[in-house]
Order: sequence, then C-alpha cells, then structure tokens
Amino acid sequence: MTLTTTLTSHETKPSLALDVPFLDLRVPEPERAELLRAVENVLKHGRLVNGPEVHAFEMAFAARCNRKYAVGVSSGTDALVLALRALNIGKGDEVIVPALSFVATANAVRVAGAEPVFCDIGDDLNIDPTEIKPLITPRTKAIMPVHWAGRICCVDHVAMIAKTCGLKVIEDASQAFGATFNDNPAGSRGDIACFSMNPMKTLAALGEAGIVVTDDREIFEKLDPLRYQGVKNKEVCHYLSGNHRLDTIQAAMLLVRLARFNELLEKRRQVAKFYDMRLNGVVATPKEWGHEKLAYYTYTIQADQRDKLKDFLAQRGIETKIQHPFLMPEQPLYKQQARGTWSHAKYLMSRVLCIPCHEKLTDGQMWHVVNSIADFYR
Ligand SMILES: *Cc1c(COP(=O)(O)O)cnc(C)c1O
Repeated sequence: MTLTTTLTSHETKPSLALDVPFLDLRVPEPERAELLRAVENVLKHGRLVNGPEVHAFEMAFAARCNRKYAVGVSSGTDALVLALRALNIGKGDEVIVPALSFVATANAVRVAGAEPVFCDIGDDLNIDPTEIKPLITPRTKAIMPVHWAGRICCVDHVAMIAKTCGLKVIEDASQAFGATFNDNPAGSRGDIACFSMNPMKTLAALGEAGIVVTDDREIFEKLDPLRYQGVKNKEVCHYLSGNHRLDTIQAAMLLVRLARFNELLEKRRQVAKFYDMRLNGVVATPKEWGHEKLAYYTYTIQADQRDKLKDFLAQRGIETKIQHPFLMPEQPLYKQQARGTWSHAKYLMSRVLCIPCHEKLTDGQMWHVVNSIADFYR
C-alpha cells in the first residue's frame, strides 16, 4: 500500500496520509475552465445581485424536479426556514421531523418559531410513516420528512397521512437531488421541497446555496419576497424576513454543474454498484429496490463492531464518517424537552458508517475499501 501525501502539509506530526479521502472537493479540468468562464460572464455583465443566471438556474432546476416554481436562496437551512414561513408555520406550531437528520432540519423549525417533534426511523434510515400518527396533536401543522443519504422516503405514505390529518408536507431533499421514487424525482411530491447545494451535496455550489420548489402559485408568491426582506416590487415590505438571496455567481456555476450532473451521478452510482456487489453479505449495504434510484449522497453501511471497523479502516488510510453521531433529539439543544420516539433510530445509529463514495475514486481505491472491510471481519 502506498501512502500519498496529503493536501494539508502543514500538519507536523507524522500524520497518516489518507489513501482514500471521504470527499475531494478540488475541481479538475475541464470543469474548472467551464466554471471560470461562467464566472467571467457574470463579471462582464455585472448584475451580481439577481442576475439572469439566478432565474435561468431556477427554471432549469424546477424543470428537473417536475415543478412549476423555484426560488433560489442562500442555503438549505434558509430554504427550510422560508418554506415554513411561506406556510405560516411559526410560534405555537409543531412540525414532525425524523429523529435522524443533520441538525439543520430541526434548527430550521426552531428558527421559524415552531417546535420540532421527533419521529422514529425505519431500517431504510428514513422516517417510519407508521410512527407518525401518534405524534400528531392539535398544534401539528406539517410533516418534514428527510430523504436521508440520497434515498427518497415513503413519501406517498407520508403525503396520505398529511392529507387525512390536514397537514402540510415539506420535503427536506437536501441530500437527495438526483434520486427518484417510482420515476418521480426527489422534491416533486410535497407542498414544498427544499434543497441544499452546499459544496458537499450531490449538486454542489462552490459555496453556500439552497433552493425551494413548489407547484402552488400562492406559496411561490410569498416565497419570492421572503428571500429578501419580505419586499415586493423592490420597495414595499409585506412580510418580516432577512436576506436569503442566492448569489448570481453561484447560480452561474450551478448551471454548469447542473448540465454535468447526470454524468456525475452515474459515476457515483457505479461506485455504489461496485460496493453493493462486493460488500453484500459482509455488511448491510444500502439496497436499492426496483421502484427507486438512490443518489448516494453517502454510501451508508450498517455494520457490527462499527467503531472498531472505523478505526481499522482509518489505519488503512480510509476516511469514513458517522452521519450523524448525535440524533437530533439527543443534541444538547433539544435534549431537555425533546418529544417523540427514536428507539430504533438509536439502535441504527450505533451501526451506521459512511464509506467514501464519489466520482474521483479509482478502481484501486475502491478495491482497497472492500478488501479492507472484508479483512476486518475475517
Ligand atoms: C445539508 C443539509 C441541510 C442544510 O443545508 P445547508 O445548505 O448546509 O444550510 C439541511 N438538511 C439536511 C438533511 C442536510 O443534509
């Protein structure tokens, strides 16, 4: 095994260079030149705020999600907060979220003034629809399922419960751009769907970015001003809001990345298929059923002796992540008054491990990952 030198050469102690990095955000040619050209265009026309690329990206993104409207914003978290505000969800209201997500999901509910209520998850690591009903109270206004790690949740079941109980559905599709369920793309089902395009996500900006999509004209007409001070026609303030705009420069680069997205997704899916075949029977792999297509935001295995496996892989130069080491209701911020159920989530969280799954992996690196996992259990 050869150890390549790390990028961060400022480390003084003899650090173990990572043979297989979890992610590699450097931008190689020819994409780099395309991105720079897109930026140069913006610098030439000078419409740095609300430039034509913002609208062009929104149109292209909405089409890709089978949606009528899209509003570009400055992050995935902002997308969730504005979605809640657009639905008039705030003080005194409750929103049901899965216990397992990045804490941004619950934080968005709190920032909007409402209270998250935590729902247990199933073996697919997504919200368990059969656990939702007992959590509904007269204060419940919405269900906010997350499509965890690039797998769309049982969104039809969630939508049916929401409909019978008079609730809204806000999809947190931050991790799932590119995934489909019965041929429907992530974000095509709820009253509103929100995406993050931070640099780690499947469709990644070169900085912070997010977007909200909907088919409802009324919702769109509120979301649109909410992205900047609640102002319509540039000067007339109708709602309380801050500054949540998407930069023109980010939109310009996102247009480049959107055009290249299918190719990128296909590469990620090939890595996943490689792992599926060779890890099956060694650890629990993220199975893909016939009606769905995963975007593999992460490739998450469920493994016995997870912590030992993680250390073992680290010794072999393989960087892995536990996504996420804390369930949202067990975060210090929520712990005291968290309401809901999350016993199965707790069990699953002791077993999950994300292994490197990105387009820059070489065959040698992929073999190194699967051989090392097999060696650990031998
Ligand atoms: C990344 C992420 C967010 C937050 O997105 P940002 O763009 O980082 O604000 C929200 N929810 C989930 C599930 C995420 O993975």
